[in-house]
Amino acid sequence: MFAGSKNAVEIGRKAGAANSMAMRQHTLKTAINCTGVGLHSGTKISMTLHPAEDGTGIVFRRVDIAGAGSVIPAHWSHVVDTRMCTVIGNDAKVTIGTIEHLMAAFAGMGVDNAIVEINGGEIPVMDGSAAPFVFLMECAGITEQDAPRRAIKILKKVSVRDGDKTATLYPASDGFAVDFGIAFAAAAVAHQSYTFSFSGPAFAAEISRARTFGFLEEVAQLQAAGLARGGSLDNAVVVSGDRILNEEGLRFDDEFVRHKILDAVGDLYLAGHPMIGRFQAHCSGHAINNRLLRQLFADPTAWTIVDDVAANESLSSWRIVPRRAMA
Ligand SMILES: [Zn+2]
Repeated sequence: MFAGSKNAVEIGRKAGAANSMAMRQHTLKTAINCTGVGLHSGTKISMTLHPAEDGTGIVFRRVDIAGAGSVIPAHWSHVVDTRMCTVIGNDAKVTIGTIEHLMAAFAGMGVDNAIVEINGGEIPVMDGSAAPFVFLMECAGITEQDAPRRAIKILKKVSVRDGDKTATLYPASDGFAVDFGIAFAAAAVAHQSYTFSFSGPAFAAEISRARTFGFLEEVAQLQAAGLARGGSLDNAVVVSGDRILNEEGLRFDDEFVRHKILDAVGDLYLAGHPMIGRFQAHCSGHAINNRLLRQLFADPTAWTIVDDVAANESLSSWRIVPRRAMA
C-alpha cells in the first residue's frame, strides 16, 4: 500500500512537470511582523509570521516562554478551549487563543507552511476580521515549494449536533464549499444564510473582511468574566436589538454570517490540510467545528489524504494565482 502511494506521488510529480495545474505546497517569501491588542486579554501583542519548510504545517511558538514547551502545532488535537474563541495548547499547559482569524487567512491565502511567533497568549484581534492578516501575507509574498500539496478528501457524511446547532461535512467531487445559516434574536442579525465556494480570491473578496460581532447586553457580562477586555468598536461589530452601534455601519448586509464562515474556514484548517468536500452548518461555532473534526478523524473510513495533488485539478481552487496564468 505504501509503495503504491509513493508511486502515485512519483507519477503525480512527473505529471506535474507537464501538467499546468500542478499543485505544490506554499509558504511566505519573507518574515513579516505586526502588533495589536488581544480581544480577550486586552494586552498589546507582537506577532511575526515566518516562512517554514515543506511539511511543517502551521506551527505557533510563544517567544515569551523558553524551551520546547513554547511550541504548539495548529492542529485540531491541540484545541483546549472553544468557549469564546479557538484556543490551542500543549502538554506544558502553554496556550494561544483567538487563532481562528489568522488560520482563516492562511487557508485563504493557500499557505501550507508557516511559523507564527508571538510574545503573548493571544493572536492580536486587529480589526476583528482576517483582512489585516491577508494584507500581511500579501506584503510578505507567497512562494511555491517543492513538495506536493496534500489535502483531506471527505469520503462520507460526518455530522454533529448540539440542540438546534448543526455542522456536517459531505463528500464532494472537487473543491471546498460552505453553506452556512444563522438565526439570532437581535433584529439587526436575525436570519442570514450564505453559500461560499472556496477559492483564494473569493475568500479575500467575500469573507476575509467580515468582522467578529457581539451584543451590547453581553459585553459587561463578558468583561466581568475577564473576557473581551480588548474589545471595542474598532475591532468588533456591536449589536443592540435592531441597531448597529458602529458609526461606520456594516461592511456587508450579511456581515454576520460571512464572519461565521470566516471562523469555520479557520477552525477547519486545523485539520492540517485544505479539505475537499462540503461544509454545511446552522449556528455552528468554534466548539461544534472542533467536535466535527474530532468526529471526522475518529473514523478512518470517513476521509483520506490526497497526496497525488498534481493530478487533482480540484485543488487548483486553493491557489491565489493559477499556474497557467503565471506561465
Ligand atoms: Zn471570529
